[in-house]
Amino acid sequence: MLTKERVVIIGSGPAGLSAAIYVARANLSPIVITGSQMGGQLTTTNEVENYPGISDISGTNLVMKMMEQAERFGTKFIYDQATQITYQHKDIIIHTKSQQIICNSLIIATGATAKWLELKNEHSFKNNGLSACAICDGPLPYFKNKHIVVVGGGDSACEEALFLTKFTDNVTIIHRRDKLRASKILQERVQQNSSIKFIWNSEITEYLGNFPDNLQLDGIKILNNKTMELSSIKCQGVFMAIGHKPSTNIFKNIIDLDSDGYIIVKNNVHTNLPNVFVAGDVSDKIYKQAITAAGFGCMAALACIHYIEENYTS
Ligand code: NAP
Repeated sequence: MLTKERVVIIGSGPAGLSAAIYVARANLSPIVITGSQMGGQLTTTNEVENYPGISDISGTNLVMKMMEQAERFGTKFIYDQATQITYQHKDIIIHTKSQQIICNSLIIATGATAKWLELKNEHSFKNNGLSACAICDGPLPYFKNKHIVVVGGGDSACEEALFLTKFTDNVTIIHRRDKLRASKILQERVQQNSSIKFIWNSEITEYLGNFPDNLQLDGIKILNNKTMELSSIKCQGVFMAIGHKPSTNIFKNIIDLDSDGYIIVKNNVHTNLPNVFVAGDVSDKIYKQAITAAGFGCMAALACIHYIEENYTS
């Protein structure tokens, strides 16, 4: 099946859905291809407390509200994954598992996913002491005054550790090397912060907790990769800060990506193709928040609307 559309948005997180609201309100009837995880990363957060105007809501419910709002103005959803993108004359062809869609303009909002250690029971401990976003989950009452571990040695690990010291004076950074790779200023800040300790040359090998009866993380096993000694430490929270992976595999033939796979952005939301725009974490290495993704979605939509008006309406 081949359908022809004005605007297609790939991705259904806050970036894609905000873009959909704006494009739909411009009467351009956008199509959102949701991807395999409808709502994106936000749906993995239990409580969202930092989205302005909504003080306490689950990530899933926030996304549902955005979806309803987009639908109300004429957005249509395709619950499928884009598998291939090709470029033909001025148009973009999106191949999904079940159909092909040809469109005049595309907004890429496929996001990024946090990297995890891929250890046993990791998935079960997520939201039960294990998180990949200190800004999202750190302020939750559960982590207050607890022993919290941050994994990683880059800027994110340092920022997450510093942020977490607002809620506890017992934060440990566990890093697999003997020095951080973070920027100098962040290294200095964590090293000067008396609430932060370090465990060097070490890797988590197991999450501990009363699994599966009372699913709450209460410790970890770590391996010193120099001495090969195994030990256990008690902790009630582990925050993963080992990087993110942007979801850009299907674009690499036609869209310029940087060495980490993120889309290279020009003028806030433009790509190397005049009719392809970008929004959210798929091009954002630094901020990675629902509200910044939503803002990017708005900007991409406005640029896309302008492109359609200039090229397709008289
Ligand atoms: P990153 O710089 O790629 O650092 C990831 C860290 O996680 C590294 O220390 C790495 O160790 C470690 N790591 C990776 N895989 C691991 C594994 N399987 N087990 C244990 N440790 C693992 O990622 P990031 O800190 O998220 O930063 C991403 C980009 O955003 C960077 O360019 C960064 O500068 C930027 N950023 C900037 C700011 C800021 O300017 N304020 C804030 C956040 C991020 P190795 O060192 O051994 O590889």
